[in-house]
Amino acid sequence: MGATTWRRINAERDHRWAQPRLSAYIEGDLPDRQERRLGAHEELCPECAQLIRTLQALITALPALRLPPEASFAIAERTAEQVRARIEEWD
Ligand SMILES: [Zn+2]
Repeated sequence: MGATTWRRINAERDHRWAQPRLSAYIEGDLPDRQERRLGAHEELCPECAQLIRTLQALITALPALRLPPEASFAIAERTAEQVRARIEEWD
């Protein structure tokens, strides 16, 4: 198995690992080690980078709507799901 193949497998594993942690990552709620791991993955993965940008924009915009925190969180989660679904369609 070449180094490139190994890196690819690693990236795919990290990608799956990253999905449920993206919201916490954006809000700075991840433990240091996980945050570093996700940051490294973000640099390598255009899909996650895009999802993170979308979520960040959303989280920046949400306070203006003056929703309760639970509602904001639910909206962010739902949007993440939709972006993820769209990303899967591109494959
Ligand atoms: Zn990724």
